[in-house]
Amino acid sequence: MKTAKYIEIEERYGAHNYHPLDIVIKKAEGVWVEDVEGNRYIDFLAAYSAVNQGHCHPRILKAMRNQAKKCTLTSRAFRNDQLPHFCKEICELTGFDKVLPMNSGAEAVETAVKAARKWGEKVKGVAKNKGEIIVCADNFHGRTTTIVGFSTDDQYKDGFGPFTPGFKVIPYGDDKALAAAITPNTVAFLVEPIQGESGIVLPKAGFLKKARELCTEKNVLLICDEIQSGLGRTGKMFAFEWEGIRPDGAIVGKALSGGFYPVSAFLSNDEVMGVFNPGDHGSTFGGNPLGMAVAREAMAVLVDEKLVKQSAKLGPWFMEKLGEIKSKSIVKVRGKGLWVGLVLNKPARPYCEALMAEGLLCKETHENVIRFAPPLTITKKELNMALRRVAKVFKKIDG
Ligand SMILES: *Cc1c(COP(=O)(O)O)cnc(C)c1O
Repeated sequence: MKTAKYIEIEERYGAHNYHPLDIVIKKAEGVWVEDVEGNRYIDFLAAYSAVNQGHCHPRILKAMRNQAKKCTLTSRAFRNDQLPHFCKEICELTGFDKVLPMNSGAEAVETAVKAARKWGEKVKGVAKNKGEIIVCADNFHGRTTTIVGFSTDDQYKDGFGPFTPGFKVIPYGDDKALAAAITPNTVAFLVEPIQGESGIVLPKAGFLKKARELCTEKNVLLICDEIQSGLGRTGKMFAFEWEGIRPDGAIVGKALSGGFYPVSAFLSNDEVMGVFNPGDHGSTFGGNPLGMAVAREAMAVLVDEKLVKQSAKLGPWFMEKLGEIKSKSIVKVRGKGLWVGLVLNKPARPYCEALMAEGLLCKETHENVIRFAPPLTITKKELNMALRRVAKVFKKIDG
């Protein structure tokens, strides 16, 4: 079957809630993917950083197969032999006291929101239903009705109201606005250390440090959404480490399972996690043995293959080389580690389509930005191949 036929069927029977590039992938290995026509591409999106370990990593595949044969789901009505290991390993890897596993990223964000609100009422002493959470403009934290309710992107919200109250928006990176927004009812500040979906936007230096100070001073939880920025993407295990701070909670997902299976988690300290009692919160699939076995191996691969270091080492070099590409359409290159945004002065989509024709898969984000985020297993040689393809496309389109 040809590409056009797959697309026709999908368009006919599937909801049109995405606008993908018209490539139909059938196989993937490491940084390479192959479409139904047999064309090969380098994947420079890595499923929004969910496949930091590379596609179909053999070790994770093996762990998944082994566990799938034994037991896939117990529900949390019973215990399973993978969850305890997962909890211990992720806490030791990340330095948090306790973890609550969920499935999608949005669910883990919801978990953080619930934890913060309940901590506010039960520990901080905020009056019932009065807790406030501060978030940033241009945030992306997922797609549930509560989460899109505090988005500043009109399209994410249009038609989906009414929304959950209790959220306040400040400009990203503005510590004065944060200080002014905090009231005695503020329970948490929820922030992406680097904003991915809004175009790899870095806050001004010192912002997170300042936010940490303010939150400590005012008894407000600092919660970092590291679903995309975490687990090595920026060249540190967590992007918040770039400012030398520790938040009170962190949210992880995406690469936590190396792209095999949705596993997400909220990580925090004993005090915050202590607000959850049996029956307060849960998920049928959250913490299931298949997901836990996959996540355990995905974390082990991250460590054993030193992928965090790889990102720290190759990222700055790649960014420098990108900066050498001359074009009247390029405004700037920005990023951290192997997470780079090429900011254009016009729509990025035609460039992404041209890059696809050259065998490089990227996706535009927020209209004018091309995001480069390959699997962290990528080699310098493969990055060089990609750079040549990028240069060729800019030369072809811009002359
Ligand atoms: C992807 C993402 C989410 C949502 O994760 P899903 O698994 O799509 O629900 C939340 N926050 C950030 C920063 C993300 O990049």
